Amino acid sequence: MNTIVWLREDLRLFDNPALHYAASRGEVTPVFIFPESLGGASYWWLHYSLEKLALSFAEQGVVLLLRTGDPLTVLMELCNELDTQSLVWNRVYSPEGIRLGSDLKERLNSQGIESTSFNAQLLIEPTQVLNKQGAPFKVFTPFWRHCLASLDPSSIVGVPDFIKTSHSIESEPLSSWGLLPESPDWSSGLAERWTPGEDGAQLRWQHFIESTISRYKDGRDIPKEENTSMLSPHLAFGEISPKQIWFDTQQAMVSREIDSDNGNKFLSEMGWREYSRYLLVHFPHIISQPFNVKFANFPWQDNPSLLLAWQQGQTGYPLVDAGMRELWATGYMHNRVRMVAASFLIKHCMTHWQEGMNWFWDTLVDADIANNTASWQWVAGCGTDASPYFRIFNPILQGERFDKDGAYIKKWVPELAQLDVKFINKPWEADPISLQLAGVRLGDNYPWPVVDHKCARETALDAYKSIKGS
Ligand SMILES: Cc1cc2nc3c(=O)[nH]c(=O)nc-3n(C[C@H](O)[C@H](O)[C@H](O)COP(=O)(O)OP(=O)(O)OC[C@H]3O[C@@H](n4cnc5c(N)ncnc54)[C@H](O)[C@@H]3O)c2cc1C
Repeated sequence: MNTIVWLREDLRLFDNPALHYAASRGEVTPVFIFPESLGGASYWWLHYSLEKLALSFAEQGVVLLLRTGDPLTVLMELCNELDTQSLVWNRVYSPEGIRLGSDLKERLNSQGIESTSFNAQLLIEPTQVLNKQGAPFKVFTPFWRHCLASLDPSSIVGVPDFIKTSHSIESEPLSSWGLLPESPDWSSGLAERWTPGEDGAQLRWQHFIESTISRYKDGRDIPKEENTSMLSPHLAFGEISPKQIWFDTQQAMVSREIDSDNGNKFLSEMGWREYSRYLLVHFPHIISQPFNVKFANFPWQDNPSLLLAWQQGQTGYPLVDAGMRELWATGYMHNRVRMVAASFLIKHCMTHWQEGMNWFWDTLVDADIANNTASWQWVAGCGTDASPYFRIFNPILQGERFDKDGAYIKKWVPELAQLDVKFINKPWEADPISLQLAGVRLGDNYPWPVVDHKCARETALDAYKSIKGS
């Protein structure tokens, strides 16, 4: 018996239920089909993740097949080539992922080929979590409370014992996919920070659960320090299983290796990941439309020069610029700074949240359709359970509060590195001597603010008033 395993957002051997099921029945043919719509940073990650996965399979005598084309056509052709009677996969919860899964099931059924799908991505199936009225939750806290009360993640499955591949079908070479940037090659900062692949994910996880998690609750908002798990790209590509994270954290709390304040806070952030996917399953239109319909009439402004200044980290607001430059250099931005930078684009620049979402999609190594959509709508105030639109992050105060000594700003905006910390979040208020001593020339080596905070705030609030009663 040869079972095809269609891999997508589950690039791991450990706790991969579809792989495990297939291996328990005989020979396995894993296949990964070129994904058409990833961003540049994600393609960079995917290259190394697939390279490592192919090696792990090869060590066990199994070939990871890479194929290009329409997934349904590719998979049906492969069933014919291998004369297989069984195809399995782990579910993907985006609207496109769900559509593909159900179309495939139908095609396979019509040809008498067995198909089974599994949950490898979530702690709990979105369709199992409903409120007392039988409707989906629209607020995180009751959603998560309900999940915690009913959570019973099935046990973890280990790395399967594979039977050596006996077919001689060849894979497309990974290099032919051209996933790595060439001219220019902007990936050196990404390579410095990250180790894509399952081993990299496990190493990061071990480091976090054995040490960093003890600083999580209080430290997670401090951008200059690495107090969070940094697992997001590994989770986005399915290199580590959320169930493993859940069980390890629970176990560490029970054995008192970690205190429950830190453990539960961390798990509740994993809960936001569950919630984002949950929202996408129940309200798939939120990828392109605001959850709150009032925002369909919001008077967004089209200002390409403000968008460009934001993308390039040249807004004149140091915390925003530091975040945008960290993103460009490393494919990642600290969560606190993501909120401030996103709010700045939406509320200070009055730019549609989808512009920011698209930029993040292209530049984040952890770009994830569910987390990205839900987070941008949350910041814009148009999502479920969103931060209200009128709550406008003040980029100066946020910097003064969360980057007290300015270390994060100094790292990513080196032109301000010598500036007295009292001006680091507002260089335009510094006296000429302080600026001169620090080598800061506003309008020359660092920009004046592209918008005035107070005026921008007023404009944003007026715009909000115009749709509030609609
Ligand atoms: C505007 C904006 C866009 C974002 N886009 C993405 C995105 O494309 N991909 C992405 O993974 N995260 C996104 N986030 C959420 C969050 O910033 C990152 O998940 C987090 O910074 C990743 O760092 P970490 O792994 O160290 O997180 P930790 O704090 O260690 O959290 C553990 C895991 O929980 C999940 N998580 C944490 N916070 C959130 C959240 N607010 N919403 C959903 N899941 C969360 C992530 O999978 C994360 O890896 C976005 C946030 C904002 C404000």
